[in-house]
Amino acid sequence: MLDLFPDPAPSDERKVVIENIGLLLSGRLEEPILDADTIVAVAGTIVEIGKASHCNTDGADIIVDACGTTVCPGLIDGHTHPTFGEYSPRTDNHSWIFNCLHGGTTTMISAGEVHIAGRPSDRIGVKALAIAAQRSFSAMRPAGVKMIAGAPLLEEGLLEEDFQEMAEAGIELIGEVGIGSVADVETASRMVAWARANGMRSLTHTGGPSIPGSRLMAAEEIIEIDPDVIGHINGGHTAFAHSEIRCLCEGCSRAIEIVHNGNSFAALYALRLATEMGQLERIVLGTDGPSGAGVPALGMLRMIAMLASFGELPAEQVFCFATGNTARVHQLPQGVIAPGRPADLLIMDRAQGTAGRTLLESVELGDLPGIGMVLIDGVPLLRPSRNTPPATVLPTARRVLA
Ligand SMILES: [Zn+2]
Repeated sequence: MLDLFPDPAPSDERKVVIENIGLLLSGRLEEPILDADTIVAVAGTIVEIGKASHCNTDGADIIVDACGTTVCPGLIDGHTHPTFGEYSPRTDNHSWIFNCLHGGTTTMISAGEVHIAGRPSDRIGVKALAIAAQRSFSAMRPAGVKMIAGAPLLEEGLLEEDFQEMAEAGIELIGEVGIGSVADVETASRMVAWARANGMRSLTHTGGPSIPGSRLMAAEEIIEIDPDVIGHINGGHTAFAHSEIRCLCEGCSRAIEIVHNGNSFAALYALRLATEMGQLERIVLGTDGPSGAGVPALGMLRMIAMLASFGELPAEQVFCFATGNTARVHQLPQGVIAPGRPADLLIMDRAQGTAGRTLLESVELGDLPGIGMVLIDGVPLLRPSRNTPPATVLPTARRVLA
């Protein structure tokens, strides 16, 4: 099923050159567009970015000709709910991830393995599930996508030593606070602080209950809990009143997450607040899929187009919400095009038939880009996407034979 091209070379030292880049998006709000047309990656890591005449492209194993199209960091979906293995009552887990890769997502972050059937809620079970999910996705990347999983939900009875144990086992993020059995603010605050003291991050379920069992927390309660990310500030699916969204945005400095499977009107309100406050670096994006709302394979691109068009923001800035901003908040090396970073890249162009004259203009008009190629750790994984509209110009890739 997986469309691998070219086959990964056996050598870890493989050198990949991407040339003839027409527009290079960095993923960083400070400088969203880079003045460069060439990227050189060795062993999956970007080593050089610049003009072709200044880059060392000798000895390349793979040469990708972007043919004047746009390159940007692979998208990071900051809010997903995977299961591990293939079975899930919600969706076929691996097909969902595969289809999201075709929507430009190269990294996913679990906000809790909430769809595991019979999900345990006792201390031992919570830890075991989180560690099993983390181990499963560390050992295997469905479709090549990097899934950062193992996000325990806060359940009654967890002790400080449990957070230390989970952190030592490689758990990085607490799943959505508000979904587990911990219902009082004092306990949730204490556990979030234990997590932070052990180097773990956290996010909240913000807004009305999404499915039977999740609960409604007030904005003041969320500020008191003090998560690293105000999870789906636009609701999952039911959003807070705008006054409460304002209270959250102004009442703390934590990341503001907007998700696809939420309330679009509330999403635009939160974006407008962040814009007015001059704090766009706080905006991070996710899909919150799979959920009852479905399996949005193009959810990240749809959000980028929605926020750029209705939000009247330059598209190159909005791409940063789905890449560098999320990477910074979750302390990931990917999401930014810079030397030393993983070569997780999208090559895309304006879709055929769009009214936009350039890729950025097409996105600002609300159209999705066409993805011509996706690379993860320098390996071209697909060309072109089977899910986006077709790109006007497609890149090419060739293996250089020694
Ligand atoms: Zn939620």
